Amino acid sequence: MIRRTLVALRASVKFIAIFIIAALLITGIIVFLYKPIYEVYIDGEFVGYSEDKQKLQERINAYQEGEGEHVAFVLLDSVPTYQLCMLKKDVVTNDEEIFNRVKESGTVYYKYYAIAMNNEDQLSVSTFQEAQEAVNELKAKNSANVDSLSIIERYSVELGELKQTEEAVAALYNKKKVSSTAVVSSTNTSVANSRSKTGPNIAMSFRYPVDSPRISSRFGTRWGRQHAGTDFAVPTGTNVYASAPGTVTFAGWNSGGYGYLVIISHGNGVQTYYAHNSKIQCTVGQTVSAGELIAKAGNTGRSYGSHCHFEIRVNGVAYNPELYL
Ligand SMILES: [Zn+2]
Repeated sequence: MIRRTLVALRASVKFIAIFIIAALLITGIIVFLYKPIYEVYIDGEFVGYSEDKQKLQERINAYQEGEGEHVAFVLLDSVPTYQLCMLKKDVVTNDEEIFNRVKESGTVYYKYYAIAMNNEDQLSVSTFQEAQEAVNELKAKNSANVDSLSIIERYSVELGELKQTEEAVAALYNKKKVSSTAVVSSTNTSVANSRSKTGPNIAMSFRYPVDSPRISSRFGTRWGRQHAGTDFAVPTGTNVYASAPGTVTFAGWNSGGYGYLVIISHGNGVQTYYAHNSKIQCTVGQTVSAGELIAKAGNTGRSYGSHCHFEIRVNGVAYNPELYL
């Protein structure tokens, strides 16, 4: 009985040993001939192999954050997806090519500062500091237009000519008329970031209407018109989410320029607006929770480039959403 058990034990030990040796051998051959490599896809299409997914992705992220002078950020229409696989060691990787392809799908947003007169852009400079210096110098020189000057932060896909501080001062300087009876005004020129600093207290919290929010236009005056919300640059088709829980009170086409618009009422006169959508994914009367999908972003209505225009209104008056997000 004991002998039989011993024989059986010896046989199974032998079997396990052979099995382990075989497994090691096969693993050895695989490691020798193959290596883990990432298959890369863009918009579902296979575009090549990457040896170092992390490095490639870091490079793409850095590019998105905006490198180079005046670049605020880059909006990528196509981002790669990766799939790990084992391939023969001599497979050709093409990270450079993949990166260039991703880059080609990007829209570059530039940031600069406009000096406006009566809310109309006169010229642009590259930094807020330069704009401030120019305005201060015009004040010191007693230029006739100092009280109508303002500085506006701008994001644009086009970068126009940027002036140097001195050029800006020379271009904007306006001699005061001698006949003027007005006392030299000492009031502050409205040098603001086009950001209103105040708004009523709203006893609720708001989340961003899109993931990875990148502001492409702030609340405030632009091109002489009041911009009643905050714009987030996103590719068409990006999910737009309810910013706070509420009830959908409008979901459809707005001919006033908002394009496909969703309005959510949150009670106590508080409403949020989501404009320029490509597709609406909710219906009037629907109760939504914060973060619930309500639309797909787009470029409908009076819109120049795909984005989500977001407003927070209290009793019909729009306040700067950045104060609440
Ligand atoms: Zn807008």
